[in-house]
Amino acid sequence: MRILIVNDDGIYSPGILTLAQVAKEYGDVTIVAPDVERSSMGHAVTHSRPLSYRKTAIQGFEAFRVDGTPADCVAIGFSVAGKADVVLSGINIGLNLGNSMWHSGTLAGAKQAALMGSRGIALSAPTPVAEPNFEGLKSHVREVLSTLLPAQELTLVNVNFPAEPKGTLWTRQSVRHYDGKVVPSKDPMGRTHYWFTVFPVEETEEGTDRWALDRSFVSMTPLRLDLTDHDALKLQLKTNPATHHTPSQKV
Ligand code: MN
Repeated sequence: MRILIVNDDGIYSPGILTLAQVAKEYGDVTIVAPDVERSSMGHAVTHSRPLSYRKTAIQGFEAFRVDGTPADCVAIGFSVAGKADVVLSGINIGLNLGNSMWHSGTLAGAKQAALMGSRGIALSAPTPVAEPNFEGLKSHVREVLSTLLPAQELTLVNVNFPAEPKGTLWTRQSVRHYDGKVVPSKDPMGRTHYWFTVFPVEETEEGTDRWALDRSFVSMTPLRLDLTDHDALKLQLKTNPATHHTPSQKV
């Protein structure tokens, strides 16, 4: 199995090495990752300037750093080294639960793989107070990969690890809304600047990724690329036929 590893924390993040060390038990590993941290940039791609990559020594792994985004790294990796059977993105320092999936660069790496006809698995762990204990997570990463890698029907999965997992659960994405307040503060020159903050406005629903993590379970959420609200579409086609055009009709 050809495995491409990417992240959004940058190629020197300890999470990427831990993931590569476990992943090599399952196939041939190549690392292609951003040269600097690119967290929270979602599925951004670089189209207004060229990209380049450099070979980078990462403890015995074939690794390349790219002056681009996580999605760029997957595209470059597939173009230069050939399409991988699966892209593993992470292990991110910071969970990617619920609403975070919309801006996660980690998940975008996995999504880019799915968009290019491969498979993607995003893996994230909590932001620790001190240094992250990735060594302690290795057995859980192994368990997750043993479950997900043979499951060819799963083309995109978002995985989150608690600090000390008690087990593993299949979950759905939490859609808890947040207030998204932008809080003003002062910079050292006395000018006003702003911090984007996230505070939830709803309780965590049972069966969601956030619910699993609150209970110290590893969360595995199967995702799809199709954002269409199929129920809403069906209803509109039935109740609002005036705007329903078949391909043969002139719009
Ligand atoms: Mn990150």
